[in-house]
Amino acid sequence: MLAQIGDQAKLLAGGQSLIPLMKLRFANPAHIVDINFIPGISYIKEDDGVLRFGALTRHAEIENSKITAKFPIIHDCAAGIADVQIRNRGTIGGSIAEADPSGDWATVLMTQAAEVHCLSAKGERTVSLNHFIADAYTTVLAHDELVSEIKVKIPPKGTGGAYLAFKRAAPVYPTASAAVNVAMEGDVCKEAAIALGCVGLTAIRATAAETELRGQRLTDKSIAAAAEAARAAGDPQSDMRGTAGYKRALVAALVKRAIEIAIRRARGEQVEVSHIYA
Ligand SMILES: Cc1cc2nc3c(=O)[nH]c(=O)nc-3n(C[C@H](O)[C@H](O)[C@H](O)COP(=O)(O)OP(=O)(O)OC[C@H]3O[C@@H](n4cnc5c(N)ncnc54)[C@H](O)[C@@H]3O)c2cc1C
Repeated sequence: MLAQIGDQAKLLAGGQSLIPLMKLRFANPAHIVDINFIPGISYIKEDDGVLRFGALTRHAEIENSKITAKFPIIHDCAAGIADVQIRNRGTIGGSIAEADPSGDWATVLMTQAAEVHCLSAKGERTVSLNHFIADAYTTVLAHDELVSEIKVKIPPKGTGGAYLAFKRAAPVYPTASAAVNVAMEGDVCKEAAIALGCVGLTAIRATAAETELRGQRLTDKSIAAAAEAARAAGDPQSDMRGTAGYKRALVAALVKRAIEIAIRRARGEQVEVSHIYA
């Protein structure tokens, strides 16, 4: 249908971004193609070292899945999105296709070497998440192409991740957020991935902060250095959620806390987290 109707068509998944935009008259598609009736595109599977999410999988299904309970950073994200009504409708595919700079999934998936499977009448392709999101509200999808699946490599033993967001209330987007993944060997960090949310036009990979951790014994000093590097990596705008300076300070604090939790989880500790509310 997308190929037949052309670029005047919009897909409808959970409708939790598209419908508010239509109500505000920021979006006015001539045609809506509802994918909610297509069977078999909502699933969570674990096979061959890979976690697979069907594009129509709701945030709530991921939050409550036994499979994702084993991957705390994924659970942190799904369980923290807005409120239960929005999590019951909103989908992981719709979230990354929307590429909202404040969306939670892109920030988390950026630390997980995620890949996006894209499908059209012409064929299929797999794009790394880092290349999939091109700019704010912009992806590399062609108008006749959709997201069919999101794939995440299952991290090896000794790896831990955490995602923390700071919010004013549940049904609003975060003011800032941080996702951290560390692979530990004893006290030494073998690999690190850090991504920042809501402090740029897209989620930002904080590579200088990762360098402060990689190959290092993780101490208060190295964690503080990574947090400082994360502060410098953010490029936030001042808005009703806070000034740019406030968001930079906030994201640094979130990175520090997320690193500490990720280390504990890498050691096998069960650490429950929830977003931080103002
Ligand atoms: C009050 C409120 C608060 C919210 N707070 C948060 C929050 O804190 N954090 C957060 O991350 N999100 C938040 N959201 C957004 C929510 O998570 C949405 O569910 C999500 O952004 C979009 O998913 P959806 O399935 O609803 O997509 P839809 O609204 O149906 O679609 C969004 C866009 O993606 C396109 N699309 C949908 N599915 C596909 C697909 N498979 N392939 C290609 N294109 C597709 C649509 O055409 C549309 O352009 C909030 C929403 C509301 C209304």
